[in-house]
Amino acid sequence: MKTGDEDWHRQRTGTIRSRSDLPESFRLHPSESEYFTYTPSAGEESRLGFAVTPYYLSLIGIGENDPVRRQAIPTVNEYQTLPCESDDPISDRAFSPVERLVHRYRDRALILVTDECAVYCRHCFRRHFASRRRGSLSDSQLQNCIDYLNTKPEVHEVILSGGDPLTLEDSRLLKIIGKIVKGVRRKLVIRLATRVPVVMPQRITPALAAALQDTGTIYIITQFNHRNEITPRSTQAVRELNRAGIPVLNQTVLLRGVNDNLTALEELFQTLLEIKVKPYYLFQGDLATGTSHFRVPLDRGMELYRQLRTRISGLAMPVYAVDLPGGGGKIPLTEAYLDHIIDEGEGKKYQFTGPDGRHYYYPLERQ
Ligand SMILES: *Cc1c(COP(=O)(O)O)cnc(C)c1O
Ligand code: SF4
Repeated sequence: MKTGDEDWHRQRTGTIRSRSDLPESFRLHPSESEYFTYTPSAGEESRLGFAVTPYYLSLIGIGENDPVRRQAIPTVNEYQTLPCESDDPISDRAFSPVERLVHRYRDRALILVTDECAVYCRHCFRRHFASRRRGSLSDSQLQNCIDYLNTKPEVHEVILSGGDPLTLEDSRLLKIIGKIVKGVRRKLVIRLATRVPVVMPQRITPALAAALQDTGTIYIITQFNHRNEITPRSTQAVRELNRAGIPVLNQTVLLRGVNDNLTALEELFQTLLEIKVKPYYLFQGDLATGTSHFRVPLDRGMELYRQLRTRISGLAMPVYAVDLPGGGGKIPLTEAYLDHIIDEGEGKKYQFTGPDGRHYYYPLERQ
């Protein structure tokens, strides 16, 4: 199929899901082919499925460290697990009062709509859920979420996440949003967390954008991690959403070998602003299993962020934040939250005081 195919279903059916699906001209690097031939021992099973849309594959340039390639093509490094890592690094499970719903903050709740994504990001932090073939939210699970939200009038915002909610067909997605808005509160703000504008922009049809806008107050939060992902096609997808009246914001993950330098971040945030996407968060990498090769030391992240402020406008600046391991929630990485560095024999760690007053820790060295 052609990479420019406009029907997003063709992107789905043409999705590359195994080594043999890759075009013959696509040569794997040693660490990549090793991933596909590696035999995991017990307890070391592969943690995340493999899927790349033809469109996203076409953005891969030359060189082993191409920023799109690093996000899309797995390497054997994913089998390297560190003691500080977990399949559930921000403790979603501990904050899940009903199946498929995570309620960590008083006024907002998150619903895991599906475990499928158009592309599985090799740095994915929700590896205990994404690609695990649990399928999409069932009607009874949805009803349980609605019943729960009806006991929590303080919730003003519902985040639809996953997985990627935009892998669902329009009818199913709109039905879910409609049921939540009608079944809970009309004034609810709905936030759709999706990488689809980046990895499968064909999905954002004018019809979908208009229908989403009709369901209520919708915000789209997407994840551009590198300037090379901002193409005429992804720009068009953003324009469709904006035209329908849907604001688009962006969460970037700070990723080693992808965007961990000043120029990459500056270009990314400046260009996002130009296509009317507001940079919202820049995330320190979560301690997800098998992602150590992506993590940037926290002090390096802080230094990059400090320098970034001298280069781009306040409007282009995201908030640099860490989702505290253990479920403390997201906190901005400013000196205000950082107590000090401690060492209790398991290596040096940063100690943070979370909004709840409790202490949380993040390792100092790249781990
Ligand atoms: C990230 C997250 C949110 C949203 O947090 P914001 O700071 O408002 O972007 C809400 N609920 C859960 C469970 C989250 O992980
Ligand atoms: S789109 Fe989100 S849930 Fe899916 S693989 Fe990427 S980071 Fe994980």
